[in-house]
Amino acid sequence: MSHKDYYSILGVSRDALQDEIKKAYRNLARRYHPDVNRDDPEAESKFKDISEAYEVLSDPDKRRQYDMFGTAKGGPAFGGFEDLSGFGNFESAFSDVFDMFFGDWQRQGTRSRSSAQRGSDLNLELTIDFEEAVFGADKEVEIGRLVSCVTCSGTGVKPGASPEICMGCHGVGEVRSEQRTVFGTFIRTTTCPKCSGVGKVITNPCKDCNGQGRKPVHEKIKVDIPAGVDNGVTLKLPGKGEAGLRGGRVGDLYVTLYVNPHPIFERQGSNLFCQFPITFPQAALGAEVQVPTLEGFEKIKVPAGTQTGTTFKIRGKGVPSLHQRTRGDIIVQVVIETPHRLTERQRELLHELARELGNDVPGSPSNVPDPSSIFGRIKDAFSSK
Ligand SMILES: [Zn+2]
Ligand SMILES: [Zn+2]
Repeated sequence: MSHKDYYSILGVSRDALQDEIKKAYRNLARRYHPDVNRDDPEAESKFKDISEAYEVLSDPDKRRQYDMFGTAKGGPAFGGFEDLSGFGNFESAFSDVFDMFFGDWQRQGTRSRSSAQRGSDLNLELTIDFEEAVFGADKEVEIGRLVSCVTCSGTGVKPGASPEICMGCHGVGEVRSEQRTVFGTFIRTTTCPKCSGVGKVITNPCKDCNGQGRKPVHEKIKVDIPAGVDNGVTLKLPGKGEAGLRGGRVGDLYVTLYVNPHPIFERQGSNLFCQFPITFPQAALGAEVQVPTLEGFEKIKVPAGTQTGTTFKIRGKGVPSLHQRTRGDIIVQVVIETPHRLTERQRELLHELARELGNDVPGSPSNVPDPSSIFGRIKDAFSSK
């Protein structure tokens, strides 16, 4: 690509104006269009060169880049997300081919109306796992969509033929009807039913697409899920919708994500929340416990005298934020778990503890709560009434 002289390919001077470039391209494209030169590989490659040259020289940014560096690729003037699909470039050359077929009469007409119709956007729902939302994933979706017919380059016209002027409207795209009333004569203008307002009709339709210019396909499309997406996020895949009509732009595909819940973690923005059970002795005496994260286990220190509901933070193990390089935390809330079944020995020990604490349990005579504890304060509040 970098060695081609786009100016000589189009036969224009280096300071040619946009109109000259467009004119040159149209003349050459008409001559070398593959539909006109079937089975001529030389014409086909020539057409490709012409299209490539036009694609660059018709775009002021690309032309400047080409003039400066001798190539239209790389460089600071390009890049960016939209360009990666390649559709933008493809379409500009593409729609000019359509102009050749359908466009001329429109400029002559009184109304400047484009018959090009943008392809529909498609919507899809995709359910992903919790971890895929957190860490990102490469997924694949299957969709049915209409793509441009390769045989006729989307024109719907049999290769070698061209659309003919619609006899219903003589190429104008609309029909007039007169209506005489007592108030005078009214002229009604309606879209031509024969050509749907296009002004041309296809008398030799492409056999591959029945003159539609588009064909239904069933295909798999890769969806790159960025790390940190959340439930309900919609991703846009430019140019993955349906092909347009008569040179119209390709539609986009929108994928809305649904995230399966996690058995342990609950997401709160970029933080992950979970509850973790500890025993009463661990809470009272202090302990080191192994808490689960999405990537294994993490040790946290529970200090002596920890109350149920106390939270601990594991920094940087939460959800990456979508547009920054930061990551949220895991918030662990410890919950003191009461044992369901006790051995005889455990029961004995707990009774002893209860007696020591002065708790009122069956088989424990004394009941003198510590007035400073929460329990003591509650008891005091009730007994004073
Ligand atoms: Zn076709
Ligand atoms: Zn018509």
